[in-house]
Amino acid sequence: MSPMGHCDINTTLERAGLSKTSQRVAVLTALVHAESPLSAREILQRVSGKGRINKVTVYRILASFKAGSIIREIATDHGENFFEMACRHNPTHPHFYCRACRSLSCLPSAGHQDRWLQEYRAADESIETVAINFTGLCRRCRNEIARDPAGPLQGPSGGKRSSP
Ligand SMILES: [Zn+2]
Ligand SMILES: [Zn+2]
Ligand SMILES: [Zn+2]
Repeated sequence: MSPMGHCDINTTLERAGLSKTSQRVAVLTALVHAESPLSAREILQRVSGKGRINKVTVYRILASFKAGSIIREIATDHGENFFEMACRHNPTHPHFYCRACRSLSCLPSAGHQDRWLQEYRAADESIETVAINFTGLCRRCRNEIARDPAGPLQGPSGGKRSSP
């Protein structure tokens, strides 16, 4: 549980106009209690054993949550997307994706982020989603590559170091 608390499952489903099914409750509970964004595969692992639920059901539920603005989806280069709560406990923030171990982590909000998001939102375009995603190597994978440059994890394509 996050130190900032979390949403009530029933209220969240109600507000999104979604009826309460055991499967929706299971998926939402997994997302509310997640310590980092989860892929559909990870969600399935966490909810399996809680009634009849399969991959197709999880994807369908995630789509309904996304349509109801309950969750946000974070796309990655590898096509395995991640999901996290889009509630007041979890305001928009950037994400970091490691291309080697394919892990995704949340980053703290950028300085003045609220202000510049506000400015964009006041523009003529009707902005519905915001995604700020960084891709690279996490600390663990960077150290791994430094130790074993010819190992299974490879450096940036082209062999050129891209560290600033
Ligand atoms: Zn919440
Ligand atoms: Zn990594
Ligand atoms: Zn996040």
